[in-house]
Amino acid sequence: MAKQLESKERYIQEKKLECPICKNDKFWTRKTLMNTPGMTLFGIEWANKSATNYICDTCGHVLWFVEK
Ligand SMILES: [Zn+2]
Repeated sequence: MAKQLESKERYIQEKKLECPICKNDKFWTRKTLMNTPGMTLFGIEWANKSATNYICDTCGHVLWFVEK
């Protein structure tokens, strides 16, 4: 299994990520391209942006971070 898939504490700009739902601090990540066909369902035009998803290891809540 790829190393980025392990669930562990994550930091965004030196702030520890905490799930807003269950207060868990272990997340696994995945990269998502914002211009994939499925994303057009949201009605947003993304120009080749990629996002990092942090998925709560406990409740599955997904946090999105879009690279500038
Ligand atoms: Zn959670």
